[in-house]
Amino acid sequence: MENKMQFYNTLSKKVEKFIPNEDGKVAMYTCGPTVYHFAHIGNLRSYIMEDLLEKTLRYVGYDVKRVMNITDVGHLSSDADTGEDKMLKGAKREKKSVMEIAKFYTDAFFADCAKLNIKTPDVVEPATNCITEFIATIEKLIETGFAYEAGGNIYFDTSKLQEYYVFSNQNEKELLVGVREDVEEDENKRNKSDFVLWFTKSKFDDQELKWESPWGIGYPGWHIECSCISMKHLGEYMDIHCGGIDNIFPHHTNEIAQSEAVLGHKWCNYWFHVHHLNDKAGKMSKSKGDFLTVSLLESKGYNPLVYRFFCLQSHYRKPLEFSYEVLDNMTSTYEKLVKRISTLKKEGKIDQEKFAQYREQFEAALSNDLNSSMAITVLYDMLKADISDATKYALAESFDEVLSINLTTAVQAETTDTGVDAEMEAYILEKIEERKAAKKEKNFARADEIRNELLEKGIIIEDTREGVKWKKA
Ligand code: AMP
Ligand code: ZN
Repeated sequence: MENKMQFYNTLSKKVEKFIPNEDGKVAMYTCGPTVYHFAHIGNLRSYIMEDLLEKTLRYVGYDVKRVMNITDVGHLSSDADTGEDKMLKGAKREKKSVMEIAKFYTDAFFADCAKLNIKTPDVVEPATNCITEFIATIEKLIETGFAYEAGGNIYFDTSKLQEYYVFSNQNEKELLVGVREDVEEDENKRNKSDFVLWFTKSKFDDQELKWESPWGIGYPGWHIECSCISMKHLGEYMDIHCGGIDNIFPHHTNEIAQSEAVLGHKWCNYWFHVHHLNDKAGKMSKSKGDFLTVSLLESKGYNPLVYRFFCLQSHYRKPLEFSYEVLDNMTSTYEKLVKRISTLKKEGKIDQEKFAQYREQFEAALSNDLNSSMAITVLYDMLKADISDATKYALAESFDEVLSINLTTAVQAETTDTGVDAEMEAYILEKIEERKAAKKEKNFARADEIRNELLEKGIIIEDTREGVKWKKA
């Protein structure tokens, strides 16, 4: 199939034409959430942009298989194998078992994704399901000399690789800063950059989840899970691996090290990384404790899809700063947009030529390193253009397969709650205002008249303490 798509590949540090291993097919992997707490809207920015990438690939014609892991074991609070186990920390905080915490926050994660119209990947696999695969891979790494046992743990030996820092020209020292806020030297490591594949000498006596292994009872490191889960479902070759930029080092660097060591060939061709969402205090992170969630936005009256719209307005390779002021502006822009689309008359002839022309412009924007704000500009241009309503409506419906912000259903969804269409709703509200004014002027006869006019149209109004309410008769 013709390759139109190009995007930035962290591996080559260039915007590259996308050529999958198998024509027309895409094997895609996403690092899933660590389920010890709710996802914050920063995490969800990454998942929204990865969802956009997947949907764009499908839209331009690829058959995508996307796999995601759920990190329910092994992720320590410092990415450099030190600190507390994040899951254990969550369980202690809530006085529950690790598995209870994992189940609760996995469900919460997918509930948030659903509110943001993020498609669930084709395969979702929790790390605790794949212990046998992890052990088999680690055994192979020991056999081939890429891993060693020291002090009861199994480590990957990074000195055995021709190149370890595949993503960066930085030196080891520079890279280790940042991941090592809580520096704690592990004397078992032969090289500073070596990392744990399997822990048996856990520093936590109360580590809940442990499994038998050839090296003793223990649990896996974080990095090995993504290598094994992706190979289990996508095989030896992968096209695109996604994650937030904080995953580049050490997580993705270590994934490549162990995967290519075990496979003996290049593993993944394209690395797609989403930049961070920041608030005024800097990068949003779960460990900060106080963070923004989808539920919090909802409790403040925001539509989660307005947050998605906000993310789509900026490029995935730029840091994005969150503020309520911007979200307020986005809310009114979004509402105007969906209202405008709701007034389009769906019935009528679709101008196929115009449809193809705008669809091509939309695809071109997204195929150009996922320029989502440009894709939204194409949407606005199309709505302004001199083409039939039916064509506009069909295009909005089509673009929403990728943008997923309920362009054609948002307004209807509002009115299904009330059971009337947008035009009728506007009429009712206008009449209610008119009646209020009449009552204020003590013109009760006119107020009653308005009540009857509405009743004739099948609408009952009630005066309540919270104000005037209406419903269908
Ligand atoms: P975690 O649940 O911590 O494993 O992170 C889930 C995903 O969110 C990973 O892909 C991270 O790289 C990404 N992520 C973490 N913090 C942010 C942030 N502030 N903005 C965008 N993505 C983030
Ligand atoms: Zn991962």
